Amino acid sequence: MEIIKGIPVSPGFAIAEAFIVSGSKLDIPRRFVDEESTEKEVVRFFEAVKIAQDDIRQLQESMDPNLGLEARPIFDAHIMILADSSLHDEVVKRINTNRFSAEYAVSRSLRKFEKVFYSIKDEYLAQRVSDIQDIERRLIRALLGQRANDLKSLNKKVILVAHDLTPSDTAEIDTSKVVGFCTAVGGSTGHTAIVARAMELPAVVGLGNVSTDVNMGDTLIIDGNRGIVIINPDEETIDKYKLLANDFLEFEESLFSEKDLAAITSDGTIADVKGNIEFPREVKQILKGGGDGVGLYRTEFLYLSTQNDPSEEVHYSVYVKSLEALNGKPLTIRTLDLGADKFFHTGDTLTERNPNLGCRAIRYCLLRPDIFRTQIRAICRASAHGTIRMMVPMVCSVEEVIKTREILTEVQDELAAEGIAYDTEMQVGIMVEIPATALTLESYVPYVDFFSIGTNDLIQYTIAVDRTNEHVANLYRPGHPAVLLLIKTIIDVSIKNNIPVSMCGEMSGDPTFIIFLLGLGLKSFSVAPPIIPEVKKLIRSVSIDDAEQIAKEVMAMNDERKIVTHLRKFTRKIMPKWMV
Ligand code: PEP
Ligand code: MG
Repeated sequence: MEIIKGIPVSPGFAIAEAFIVSGSKLDIPRRFVDEESTEKEVVRFFEAVKIAQDDIRQLQESMDPNLGLEARPIFDAHIMILADSSLHDEVVKRINTNRFSAEYAVSRSLRKFEKVFYSIKDEYLAQRVSDIQDIERRLIRALLGQRANDLKSLNKKVILVAHDLTPSDTAEIDTSKVVGFCTAVGGSTGHTAIVARAMELPAVVGLGNVSTDVNMGDTLIIDGNRGIVIINPDEETIDKYKLLANDFLEFEESLFSEKDLAAITSDGTIADVKGNIEFPREVKQILKGGGDGVGLYRTEFLYLSTQNDPSEEVHYSVYVKSLEALNGKPLTIRTLDLGADKFFHTGDTLTERNPNLGCRAIRYCLLRPDIFRTQIRAICRASAHGTIRMMVPMVCSVEEVIKTREILTEVQDELAAEGIAYDTEMQVGIMVEIPATALTLESYVPYVDFFSIGTNDLIQYTIAVDRTNEHVANLYRPGHPAVLLLIKTIIDVSIKNNIPVSMCGEMSGDPTFIIFLLGLGLKSFSVAPPIIPEVKKLIRSVSIDDAEQIAKEVMAMNDERKIVTHLRKFTRKIMPKWMV
């Protein structure tokens, strides 16, 4: 049994076999053969070695002679490794002694070599791990006769193990087969994590060598609350986690049974809890959890389903579909936030050295008014069918809001001239997720109808910590006094100027901070749909006096650890210990 610690990104517990997703998505199930078949498996292995070597030679011949100069020695080395007798011995031993299929024996043997290379404190050799991985893929492909064995052919539940999963990989996970996942890289508010939460998949990221520590078919436990992965647990640990998983489910059920109770504090302060979505299908989940509408629709996920820029009709139809599902509740559409860890469309990828500080979101939209206009036109047309609020991300200057409003007015005039209906009263707001904007918020007041606090980016830009980088994940702290001060400033300015303010960053769904935020005066939360009932329950469980008192105490503290301990102590009186 081995326990590894990573970053918890999506709550819940999962116990299942590991399914390793390699870069090329070629993977193999753990399979045993009978004694009589071992000889056949050994023959298959040596045939695969020959096919792999021939493939490499063919590749070398077809290579551009200039590029080939550098690449040829690498491929020569691959051919030599494939001919190496220690590799052969290792694989043959696993087939003969363990009765593994040739595919599984190759995978186990090559992973052993990978691990050895990783552990060598020599950068050059450590880099050679990718060569070993390449050879493994080539051999397995040869054994499978080029047939990628994907998840579809599985007939049992698994936990995905990957070096990394993109947000699109995550969104495409088949939840009838996959019960959780863990990755080597990533951070708590990257988009992969956000999608995992939306899909209710327990997940842990930032686990270092997980994809080489775990073998296909190993039993895994994912503890998405504490960020722990247990490899090949003993019976006692499995039993303990089965009980926890049960408690978790029972607690979730009890929350859902109260979902229709309003989010009102014990002394009558009313709050609203909306949901964040990436796809219109998630609206159903919001309503199921008793949510008050959509507080953030991340429309850049539209780029997942198309190779080109989505057309006006594509935008329009998903917005109308969402509105219909919402049945009168508001839909907050965030204009495209392309760039950084999100999607880029195919035709126009910008090469940027530091994309998080680069041309993302509103900056990109203003650079490409054609794309921006198309979306705004669709938003306006859809606004005739229900309550739409348009929200602009990553705003860092008043000029950006003024320019956006100019484009909006032009589009609305155009529609009026064409006789197309739209909501003339549609509200326009901005996300406050850059410290500069938070600190000068008064100057935005004349131009906006609402503010929404994007803590995922606000934290990354305040503390200068990449939200997706596991190496600095320990520094990514929502409870940092500077972050709390900025949040308080935003809420104070909004209240003073009578501008509605909400929070749609992940912090608004973090049980540790909800009561504190309420005490600062926040009355509108937008969170991952599955946790709406939990947030409502927390709000119902306190009085506004207590919440204000705790906010006051925290604002007088200047030590992040003490702040978090103080808040957790309070929250644990209401929620189960494993939750916070
Ligand atoms: C945020 O930054 O808090 C936010 C909600 O936006 P995103 O996570 O999509 O960047
Ligand atoms: Mg953001």
